[in-house]
Amino acid sequence: MLTVNAIAATSATDPLVRTTVERRDLGPRDILIEISYAGICHSDIHTVRGEWGEVPYPLTVGHEIVGHVREVGNAVTRHALGDRVGVGCMVNSCRDCDNCKAGYEQYCLQGNVGTYASADRDGTVTQGGYSTHIVVDEDFVLRVPESIPHHAAAPLLCAGITTYSPLAHWKAGPGKRVAVVGMGGLGHMGVKIAVAMGAEVTVLSQTLGKKDDGLAFGAAHYYATSDPATFETLRNTFDLIINTVSVPVDMKAYLSLLRLDGTLVSVGAPPEPLPVEVFTLFNNRRSFAGSSIGGIAETQEMLDFCAENGIAPEVEVIGADAVNKAYERVLKSDVRYRFVIDVDSLR
Ligand code: NAP
Ligand code: ZN
Ligand code: ZN
Repeated sequence: MLTVNAIAATSATDPLVRTTVERRDLGPRDILIEISYAGICHSDIHTVRGEWGEVPYPLTVGHEIVGHVREVGNAVTRHALGDRVGVGCMVNSCRDCDNCKAGYEQYCLQGNVGTYASADRDGTVTQGGYSTHIVVDEDFVLRVPESIPHHAAAPLLCAGITTYSPLAHWKAGPGKRVAVVGMGGLGHMGVKIAVAMGAEVTVLSQTLGKKDDGLAFGAAHYYATSDPATFETLRNTFDLIINTVSVPVDMKAYLSLLRLDGTLVSVGAPPEPLPVEVFTLFNNRRSFAGSSIGGIAETQEMLDFCAENGIAPEVEVIGADAVNKAYERVLKSDVRYRFVIDVDSLR
């Protein structure tokens, strides 16, 4: 067992504190990763604040992880000492159900093993990436291309794949009008990826405060959702809307923006329901869908796609002691566009 430095939440309301967590001894197919950077996802905040249900405190969160391979089990073949690697939201799954066999480990019918707050195969609670090291089965470790700046790569492991997967599934590409609602961590990656896929991209943000950034990321249009005229102007416009907002939004207003056979995909995960009026779906034969992260093979595909297209997250690198302040800023939509913890500050 390895005891390593970490930051943990001890309750829904207290600030995160420095602590240590235990990492298991390496099994034959395990990899010990020395973590360099860990992104702060809004899901970390929902989780530690107990918004999604009971939390096994003390809990170290973090599921946007990049680092280097420092030790490998004796049967490891996929990664080698020194490789630059990443870990996202899952560290295992049953591998045997129909969904796992089809490469959709995120939809494992037994429930995937989350990077934190999940029951690991040895019965312990998984602890996430706000930590100096992690031990993960090699099949759930991704190769991070060297051309992606190291300090900026971590958010691809959640924000990147969570937007790439629905954009790829619903075929964002040339001739498609795609809107991204909310330009935070997920949203700004959604814009960059949809642009790289060739779609005509519109940002729907609360205000025009980040318009210059949105256009610089390649969006063709940028509208403020605080202006009711936006919903008149854009009625019946989009083939695909990716909603990344962390609180409930007015579904009728956003569904009305879909053209014939358009789909609104919610990746934002507020704890409250998102009520839908069926008549809004009847018009234009609209669909309302959800999407959860992405499979392991698809996550590798996304990392390679971002490397090939020169796409990387926009990050603000912080030290471990700035995490609580960063949480407050994320909650105020004051993030451009992802906080990333420099894990050297924990050593
Ligand atoms: P984030 O950085 O906080 O971005 C959310 C954005 O939503 C904000 O930047 C803001 O964009 C907009 N927003 C916030 N409050 C709003 C309000 N009251 N009204 C309207 N818009 C508001 O969060 P994130 O890390 O991207 O995560 C977004 C959501 O996705 C969270 O709920 C998270 O748990 C969820 N998530 C889901 C998955 C999945 O697998 N489905 C994976 C990761 C995260 P503007 O300032 O541009 O308006
Ligand atoms: Zn996340
Ligand atoms: Zn499974």
